Amino acid sequence: MRIDIITVLPEMLDGFVNTSILARAQKKGLVEIHVHNLRDYTLDKHRRVDDYPFGGFAGMVMACQPIDACISALKAEREYDEVIFTTPDGEQFDQPMANELSLKRNLIILCGHYKGIDYRIREHLITKEVSIGDYVLTGGELAAAVMSDAIVRLVPGVLSDEQSALSDSFQDNLLAAPVYTRPAEYKGWKVPEVLLSGHEAKIKEWELAQSLERTQRLRPDLLEKK
Ligand code: SAM
Repeated sequence: MRIDIITVLPEMLDGFVNTSILARAQKKGLVEIHVHNLRDYTLDKHRRVDDYPFGGFAGMVMACQPIDACISALKAEREYDEVIFTTPDGEQFDQPMANELSLKRNLIILCGHYKGIDYRIREHLITKEVSIGDYVLTGGELAAAVMSDAIVRLVPGVLSDEQSALSDSFQDNLLAAPVYTRPAEYKGWKVPEVLLSGHEAKIKEWELAQSLERTQRLRPDLLEKK
């Protein structure tokens, strides 16, 4: 899988792309992440990528030319499954969307800034608009980071224990069961007996019952989707 992230703040993503799960996935040769500085594509001699909005509204708008030039240059090299724009008015990012995107080969993620991007780019070049939540961030970089992390950890081979991702919250519209580690007793706080029993079937049964109980109590809306 390859993810190309387009941004005016590449330094914001450098550390993230070169540490964490993304670094591990790249080292294993399973994923490539490329961060592109939008300013490298502008024809403006001052390297500007934004301009005043028509209509006299407040704020600045990211202009068509550099975005078009960057996306066109990438598309000339390979086919992309999706050209994603991060935006608060997009479709809500969730685990099913992460699952779906983890099966793709090539993705572009465009990070907006200022008041956003010229709407014509959204109409003509963007294939998917995604929000990470009902709040407004200053730029799309954190959204691109959140999405890349959630997607890449699902790519087969990235996590050392693939079963681990399948038992995480939101897979099967359930919250995960509680987890414990050694010691079995700490300050008198005990680990549930069944987890120490070594009885695989009983442990599975306990795990499912815990998932169902926690989902019912904390996120009953998820059970309606099942
Ligand atoms: N004027 C825009 C609006 O009201 O919808 C908000 C612009 S915001 C200040 C700048 C950029 O941050 C957006 O273009 C988008 O790329 C990114 N962004 C902000 N909030 C986001 C969210 N919840 N999810 C994804 N991207 C977001």
